[in-house]
Amino acid sequence: MATVHVVGAGLAGLACAVRASAAGRSVVVWERAPQAGGRCRSYHDRAVDTEIDNGNHLLMSGNRATPGFLADIGATDRLVGPRVARFPMLDLASGRRFTIAPNAGPVPWWVFRPGRRLPGSRPWHYLRAARVALAGPRKTVGQMVPETDPLYRGFWEPLTWAVMNLEPERASAMLLGRVLRETFGKGAAACRPLIARRSLADTFITPALETLARRGVDVRFGRRLRGLSMAHGPVTTLDFGDHVEPLERGDQVVLAVPPTIAADLLPGQPVPEEGVPIVNAHFRLPAPAELPEGSPILGLLGGAAHWLFLRGDIASVTVSAADGLVDRPAEDLADLLWRDVARALGKADAPLPPHRIVKEKRATFTQTPANVARRPGPRTAVPNLLLAGDWTDTRLPATIEGSIRSGNAAASAAQH
Ligand SMILES: Cc1cc2nc3c(=O)[nH]c(=O)nc-3n(C[C@H](O)[C@H](O)[C@H](O)COP(=O)(O)OP(=O)(O)OC[C@H]3O[C@@H](n4cnc5c(N)ncnc54)[C@H](O)[C@@H]3O)c2cc1C
Repeated sequence: MATVHVVGAGLAGLACAVRASAAGRSVVVWERAPQAGGRCRSYHDRAVDTEIDNGNHLLMSGNRATPGFLADIGATDRLVGPRVARFPMLDLASGRRFTIAPNAGPVPWWVFRPGRRLPGSRPWHYLRAARVALAGPRKTVGQMVPETDPLYRGFWEPLTWAVMNLEPERASAMLLGRVLRETFGKGAAACRPLIARRSLADTFITPALETLARRGVDVRFGRRLRGLSMAHGPVTTLDFGDHVEPLERGDQVVLAVPPTIAADLLPGQPVPEEGVPIVNAHFRLPAPAELPEGSPILGLLGGAAHWLFLRGDIASVTVSAADGLVDRPAEDLADLLWRDVARALGKADAPLPPHRIVKEKRATFTQTPANVARRPGPRTAVPNLLLAGDWTDTRLPATIEGSIRSGNAAASAAQH
């Protein structure tokens, strides 16, 4: 039987392998690292003495491909969140707290309720969201929402950092607009914030690997693809250095690797530039804590940290678009970010607890309009070679939902 060779066991590669094996294809997965998950992984950390994620990951209930993937791997109950769509926010500079709370249905009645919208804003300030939702490919968020907009600091800037991992001045308005259409544009049911129940590995990676094992899919770790040979047509061998894998007639290859690696393996293939960092800090609290309204997340304004996630006694904060911070020493970052966490938890004088700083230097591709235009679809000029990854043209930002959609698209293309 012809085989689908999936290179890369991040979420895109795993989704592709799960989909292709469900369709009865013979599948082999090749992964450079000793473990699966790529940019969405977990491990036991000695400093905080528990399992942590490489970074906080937030999903939205409006996602479509992610629930399908979780159902395929029997992990539907492992993505959790509040029953209502509420985003508690804290302005660290002024101490003011407020909650963004969309209502049911696509008509945003909540903007007419002063208690549900941002302090100081008026209903008509939200009209810009409709324009961003329909933005064309050349516009940045900053071109559509000026810094003087009353919602800029409290809504557009944190939203753009969180979704696009880029500042509004550079981020593609079209991509952010698509997320708005699939979430806020559909009302509260599509806007519930969701997080992994215990860890990213527990929700996404371990059940995917178990599903693949049950289906007889061979996942080979520690195998870095170094080259492909193509004799004037399809790929004929995969070169892993110490091992060359010959391909049979009808075999297909899905490159589910980051964009720069795809471009090295396939010279001439246009790819978007990558390299926007995210910094995460994990703190082990002396005792379990709770956020307002029992929310698993708290948006932070006016400090260095952007979002606080709480899981029992582990408080983790994210700094997106962290170019200005990523090269600072970890201990400086721990001091800086702990100040924000301590204030958010109402313990401003608490000493720095055990902690871990995780720097992901290439967390996402640089999601500017120019780079978005360089995203390829799943098919390449080589007949049996397909692409997957959050950087391919998923029509969404570089997210879990996007990477799973890309894996599904590559698996469908491999069927035809
Ligand atoms: C800190 C951080 C926070 C994030 N926050 C969010 C969030 O809140 N919400 C959200 O939805 N998304 C978030 N994301 C994005 C999300 O993690 C990614 O979109 C997703 O994990 C990308 O999956 P992927 O499979 O496309 O790529 P990757 O995870 O990069 O997978 C590529 C795989 O290919 C392997 N590989 C590379 N080269 C080779 C080779 N030559 N041979 C074999 N294997 C190779 C790699 O080891 C890796 O396992 C975040 C990412 C980071 C880093």
